[in-house]
Amino acid sequence: MFTGFTNKIKTAIARIKGRTDLVICAVCVAVVVAVLCVSVSLIVKYNSKISDLEKSVSNLEQERNNLEEINNIKNDTIQDQENSANEKDQQIEDLENSLEDQENQHEKDTAEKEELKQEIEDLKDFISDYITNGLYDGYAARSSGLATKGQEEWLTASQEIKELKEYVSQLFEDEQQVSDLIASIDEQAAALQDYYDRIPNYRPAAGKTTSPFGYRKHPVLGYTKFHYGVDLSKSGGLAIYAAGKGVVTMVQWNDSYGWFIEIDHGNGYKTRYAHLKSHKTCLVSVGDEVDKGQHIATMGTTGLSTGVHLHFEVHENNERINPADFIGTY
Ligand SMILES: [Zn+2]
Repeated sequence: MFTGFTNKIKTAIARIKGRTDLVICAVCVAVVVAVLCVSVSLIVKYNSKISDLEKSVSNLEQERNNLEEINNIKNDTIQDQENSANEKDQQIEDLENSLEDQENQHEKDTAEKEELKQEIEDLKDFISDYITNGLYDGYAARSSGLATKGQEEWLTASQEIKELKEYVSQLFEDEQQVSDLIASIDEQAAALQDYYDRIPNYRPAAGKTTSPFGYRKHPVLGYTKFHYGVDLSKSGGLAIYAAGKGVVTMVQWNDSYGWFIEIDHGNGYKTRYAHLKSHKTCLVSVGDEVDKGQHIATMGTTGLSTGVHLHFEVHENNERINPADFIGTY
């Protein structure tokens, strides 16, 4: 059997040897197939690599674009920051200029305010001066006998106050500031007004002076005696008026005065109104506040008197002084 198989091989080899061309052909086919297989394998392999490379290139390009974009953004940001820095520099310069302007304005305002403060101080001095000395400065102006004490000074003061208020309104634009200053001036003016109202310079009766202040032969007693007031005639009417603002401190009887009223005006001044008709015809009581010029009583002839008239006295710090210096000499 083994011999039979060997023989079959031998026979086949013999057949193949007989067909050399076929063998060559088969080998060629085999080589071609192998070459094709290798080529296809290589092509597939390289295609894959090319694809990978292309992907890489694409990624790199993407990355490059990204980098460019980042660079642009960076440049933009730097530019923005530079612009912003310049703007801030400009703003700082503007602020510095504005601050300088404000400082200049403030200095100017301060100077103007100082000036105004001085004006107000001057006004206060003027008022204080007027209150202390004004009364005496006014004597010369009353030589006609018609002027009343303190009136001229009061008119001057009123004018000064009016002018100062106008000046304040022009100088300041701030309404609150103006109203505060005007209030301060008004307060001073009210104090001055009150002081003026308390000066007993309102003529207490309309009639003429029939007996002045000083030595005279007494009409009842008959001998020379000092007359401590002025006598005013009934010719102008019997009404008696308060010579100044004040408080009634006496409504009473005295053998010399008869029925009389005393008013305390403050600032050291008091006035007395004597020989009144009766305490029943008095229009005020002790403790009453009276205004300058207020009707207070009726003329009579009670006490040491020879006929209906008003005996009017002015007391300064409890000393009787000449009423003509307050109400004139006529
Ligand atoms: Zn008298």
